Amino acid sequence: MFKKEIIDALAWFENEKFSANFPLDYCLPVYHNVSNEHLPHLKHIIHYKNEKEFEEDLDCLSKNFQWVTFDEFKDYVKGNFKPKRKIALLTFDDGYREFYDVVIPVLEKKGIYAMNFVNPAFIDNKDMMFRCKVSLIKDTLDNLNCDNPSILKLKYHQSKTIEDLSTQFEVDFQDYLEEKKPYLSLDQLHQITSKGFGISSHGMNHPLYHEVPISEQLENTILGYNYMRENGFHYESFAFPFTDFGVEKSFFDELFKNKDIFCTFGSAGVKMDSVSKNFHRIPMETGETASQILKKEIAYFKFKKVLNKNKIIRK
Ligand SMILES: [Zn+2]
Repeated sequence: MFKKEIIDALAWFENEKFSANFPLDYCLPVYHNVSNEHLPHLKHIIHYKNEKEFEEDLDCLSKNFQWVTFDEFKDYVKGNFKPKRKIALLTFDDGYREFYDVVIPVLEKKGIYAMNFVNPAFIDNKDMMFRCKVSLIKDTLDNLNCDNPSILKLKYHQSKTIEDLSTQFEVDFQDYLEEKKPYLSLDQLHQITSKGFGISSHGMNHPLYHEVPISEQLENTILGYNYMRENGFHYESFAFPFTDFGVEKSFFDELFKNKDIFCTFGSAGVKMDSVSKNFHRIPMETGETASQILKKEIAYFKFKKVLNKNKIIRK
């Protein structure tokens, strides 16, 4: 791919002085999971890191940024918090169990805060995100030596096809949920909060926003907001499931009519947004180290700066 080759070439010239070279005052890394295990529900859709790789990422980021909590981040946005260095807010999406079992012990050891954006529909392992279902079916097919790459292209609204395939190949999602417990329970979410970490909304059940009508985007977001509010979590923020790509200005206009909502989070990398309350995070599960990812993000930002294309413009 042409774009990839340009970034790779430009990134080669970047050094590791990220504290100086990072073009924004805030760095928002986003992960989904950390595990040393083969997780069939994630293996085929997310390139999650193992514990060692995750710790190396954190060490790289710690050298260059000042970690903040979500409350400090909000104060920083409001101009009430003057950090000594560029800040970093560590975020996770989807509320997988390993956030409690694997990630938090590492963060407690290093004294780093993180927040996790979760989908109420999956808390307590009531259900599973459709992409995880697809990953599970793919895993089963691989074990049968049955190659079917098109299965990974199934979409949110194709739930009937996904269910049919699960029946055909005897993949029982409910059994998997009960046995493996891939998601955090409500009790664990409360424990996470009492340990000082943050929980916030990732919408109700993880549709790809630009593929559903705006009424459904809003409904999914409001259901997530309500749940966070009722359960004492951070209801003032929301992180888009998958991507905010293609989400129109009118969605944000409508959402921010609710004055409780402080900000939203996308994941377009080092980017600004014409919606000033939408902050972009850097996807950290590209199969590269934090250092490689930051070099590429910085190089790409410089490249786009020449073209004046670092701001996403919403219509
Ligand atoms: Zn997600």
